[in-house]
Amino acid sequence: MAAQMTDAHRRFLQMMMCKGIVEGSEATNLHKHCCETDKVYYEHDKLDDFIGTINGKLQPLFMQIRKGISQDDGKVHYALVNLAETEITQMASDYTETELELFRKTMDLIILSENGFASSTDILNLADQLKTKRMKKKEAEQVLKVFVEDKWLSEKNGEYTLHTRCIIEMEQYILRNYQDVAKKCNICHSLAIQSQGCESCGIRMHLPCATKYFRGQTEPRCPNCNEFWSCDTPGVSGMGFQTHH
Ligand SMILES: [Zn+2]
Ligand SMILES: [Zn+2]
Repeated sequence: MAAQMTDAHRRFLQMMMCKGIVEGSEATNLHKHCCETDKVYYEHDKLDDFIGTINGKLQPLFMQIRKGISQDDGKVHYALVNLAETEITQMASDYTETELELFRKTMDLIILSENGFASSTDILNLADQLKTKRMKKKEAEQVLKVFVEDKWLSEKNGEYTLHTRCIIEMEQYILRNYQDVAKKCNICHSLAIQSQGCESCGIRMHLPCATKYFRGQTEPRCPNCNEFWSCDTPGVSGMGFQTHH
C-alpha cells in the first residue's frame, strides 16, 4: 500500500534535513514545490501520506518527520527528529559534557517552572555550580546562544523555553524523565510546557488551546473539574461581562 519513494520525496527530505523544522504552511509549499520540480503528481491534501512514505524509509535510521504544535501559537509544525532511545545522548556528539549539563539543568528549570520559562539570570546562576566544569557567565551566555541557533531552546526578552523542535523530538524523554511534573495538555493531549494549570485539580492547557477552549464561554471553567479558571488567558475576556461607563 505504501507509495514509492520518488525524487520529490528525496528532495523534501533533503530540505527537512537542512531546515530541521518547518511550519505547516511551509511544509505544504515544500510538498508542492518538490512535486512540481520532479514532475510527480501533486495531491494537495496528501501531505501526511507523502511524509508517511518518507518515514517508512527513515525508520531503519531511527529518524522520523514528526508533526507537533508550537506551544507559542498553537500552529502545526513538522520536525525531522531522531528516535534513538536516549534522546538526550544524541546531542552528545554536538556538545561537550559541560554544555550538556547546562542544557539538562536549563531543561529542569523550564519544566519545573509555573509557566514553562526560565530567566537568563537563573540559568546563568547555574553556570558556576556545574559538576563537570565551572563555566564563566560569558561562556554560558555563548552556549545558550548556540542552543537557540541549533533550535533546542528559544528565547524571548531574556526568558528561555524549549524550542518546538526540541519538544517534538524529546516529548517521550521528557514524559519519562519528569513523570511527576511533566503533563499533557487537557485539550490536545501533547506535552504542555508553556501552559496554564488549574488551581484545584492541576490539569494543564497550552495557552492557545485554553484561548480556543474558553472562547465563547461566559465564564472560564476548568474542563476537568469545572472550577473557575483563575489564570488570565490572552484573548479571553475574564468574567465574560463588559464594563459600561
Ligand atoms: Zn494543547
Ligand atoms: Zn480543574
